[in-house]
Amino acid sequence: MKTHAAIAFSPDDPLRIEAVDLADPGPGEVRVRMQACGICRSDLSALEGKETVHFPVVLGHEGAGYVDAIGRGVTALKEGDEVVLSWTPACGTCASCLRGEVHLCASVNMTTEGRGPLTFQGQPLDRFMALGAFSEHVVVPEKMAVPVQSALAPTHSCLIGCGVTTGFGAAANTAGIRWGERVAVIGCGGVGLAAVQGARIAGARQIIAVDPIADRRDAAIALGATTAISPDNMRETIIEMSNGGVDAAIECVGESSVMAEAFMLIRPGGRCVVVGLPAYTDLLKIPAVMLLQEKTLTGSIYGSANPATDFQKIASLADSKQLLFEPLVDKIRPFSEINDGFEEMRSGASVRVVLSFD
Ligand SMILES: [Zn+2]
Ligand SMILES: [Zn+2]
Repeated sequence: MKTHAAIAFSPDDPLRIEAVDLADPGPGEVRVRMQACGICRSDLSALEGKETVHFPVVLGHEGAGYVDAIGRGVTALKEGDEVVLSWTPACGTCASCLRGEVHLCASVNMTTEGRGPLTFQGQPLDRFMALGAFSEHVVVPEKMAVPVQSALAPTHSCLIGCGVTTGFGAAANTAGIRWGERVAVIGCGGVGLAAVQGARIAGARQIIAVDPIADRRDAAIALGATTAISPDNMRETIIEMSNGGVDAAIECVGESSVMAEAFMLIRPGGRCVVVGLPAYTDLLKIPAVMLLQEKTLTGSIYGSANPATDFQKIASLADSKQLLFEPLVDKIRPFSEINDGFEEMRSGASVRVVLSFD
């Protein structure tokens, strides 16, 4: 079929929405009519050439829509089902999947190297995260289209596909926050604000949010942070406020210097969880002797979540008004304004721009 996708031809050119050819879903695949897709920081990184993608590429990996065609052998989904796209294929056969860690699935790919169902004037198109969701339609394996029932509009449920699951899961799953704990969240973009909410829902007694931008500190307070501070004198302030260090620090910035600072905030036996995406060449330096205080330093990918079950749980937390999505989406634009959306994300003017296909 013909559909329309936003193609990035090079890091330096604006995206162009073009008519493209999309193959029918093959065995085990479904076609999804996209309704909304968020612009995530990783899309920016990919466009800037900081991720492994091959131009021309269709970016976009935070999408929601409904199934409008199914391939042979698909049993879990039917036409009309509302879905959120997942960027883990959850292959079910690799060592990670067999351990139940589908977020670490060996088949997660940043790039399809041009293989797949999408072509432009006969030329194969790469699809970022094997999704390429800045497109009116996508064809994906059925496990990458997760059915989600919720009162959330697609312009908000799409965030379950990346930012919210990443931040919420970093707090609730990876950091394993328990009730009564003290938590610091460094960086209050969309992911950080979801981590703040994860900490609140897990029952943290103290949630210290850190961000240089006043509006984001205000948003963090509105979403459950007990205090919000600027990064100046962060270490001294937080260690004093938490009476000697937090139980868990969650870094949502993606800079090794900030990760090292986050590690310095935790108490003996505490956990530091890194969520932000650093440059591939970035090295991390911490005082090695502090590891002997049984401090844990770990990364978190996709909120250590299992999309097949966690997406619906997160949507249900939204339906019960515990996990708030409204403040996480500060701009909704039609798909045709994708370049304006990228500019707003790049400049930091928006926490999250979501593109609507309707
Ligand atoms: Zn796997
Ligand atoms: Zn993302």
